[in-house]
Amino acid sequence: MKLLDKHYIIPIFVPHLGCPHDCIFCNQRKIASSCTNINEKEIREIIDRYLSYFKKDCFIEIAFYGGSFTAIDIETQRNFLKIALEYKEEGLIDEIRLSTRPDSIDDFILTHLKKYKVDTIELGVQSLSNEVLYKSGRGHTKEDVYRAVELIKKYNFNLGLQMMLGLPGDNLERSLYTAKKFIDLKPQCVRIYPTLVIKETYLQEMVLENKYKALKLEEAVDISTKLLMLFYINEINVIRIGLQPTENIQLGKDVIDGPFHPAFRQLVEANIYKLVLSSFIDENILDIKASRLYIFVNSKNVSNIAGHKSKNIKYLKTKYGFGDIKIYNRDIDQKNIILRIDDYDYKINVNKYMKKYLNKVNIINEENRSV
Ligand code: SF4
Repeated sequence: MKLLDKHYIIPIFVPHLGCPHDCIFCNQRKIASSCTNINEKEIREIIDRYLSYFKKDCFIEIAFYGGSFTAIDIETQRNFLKIALEYKEEGLIDEIRLSTRPDSIDDFILTHLKKYKVDTIELGVQSLSNEVLYKSGRGHTKEDVYRAVELIKKYNFNLGLQMMLGLPGDNLERSLYTAKKFIDLKPQCVRIYPTLVIKETYLQEMVLENKYKALKLEEAVDISTKLLMLFYINEINVIRIGLQPTENIQLGKDVIDGPFHPAFRQLVEANIYKLVLSSFIDENILDIKASRLYIFVNSKNVSNIAGHKSKNIKYLKTKYGFGDIKIYNRDIDQKNIILRIDDYDYKINVNKYMKKYLNKVNIINEENRSV
């Protein structure tokens, strides 16, 4: 039996293949650390190499990333997909996923992808504001996104949606609008990418000409916190936040500006717990006499509760005067936290406090529906 919690990806980068032009923020050759177009022999080598690392009982997916897969010439698509299908039919991998542009989806393409047993299509949407899409040189509109999503669902593929924040013309309101529309489209997964300024992109020129200002790290964490809370309370699986750091995807190397952090997701998750814990304490514990706070959580949440470099611990100590804060693993649901203060245990439902926070900052209404 396959262990679904051991989900492994075999990434095959097809940098910029199929893309009709360069979007202003994109330099896939830098992002994917690859300068050459991949060929079939290399694809087989990559798959075999990854398969040799993975255990047999894991759930394994081949993923074609980094270009506009369905806009590549059809013969090349066939040759690549044939290889993935061969491994799938031999039972060596479980699923096939690919990412592409919303305006490169039609009946012909989806019929062809079905033939090769593709499971998941991820759309690089980036924004559902036509102004942001235009200013970012995407070359498609939000109407193309809605059309593509409808077709992908009609053909019964799993749907992934990718959004960016901080693109030219974007702001908190537009990012929230995009996230809320994503929720209505009910994707199986979402990725969130704060915009980074990568070398040799048009965005770099805009920075040099003072026509674009990247988000600061704190701003990007704040917006991503709100987006992630929205997705969490609507039970949408967010599979990535922030560009994967590589040897060159680092500030001072190929990233010349923008909210880059190697542990960006942890900053966001930790910020959620900071907001949840402090709003629970503010609301429920009026008179803190204890010098110690004990926090019991699922083992998966320990580092997020503590925060990057124990930032949350320091924050709670300073704000509430606790002399000591200890965090312990407990066999409890990830959605709950137990606080022990003055020998009394308080159970916090994290979802409830995320909703309260989003309500307080006017992002959702009392009933929690997001739009
Ligand atoms: S963002 Fe996507 S569509 Fe635009 S150039 Fe990069 S890979 Fe191609």
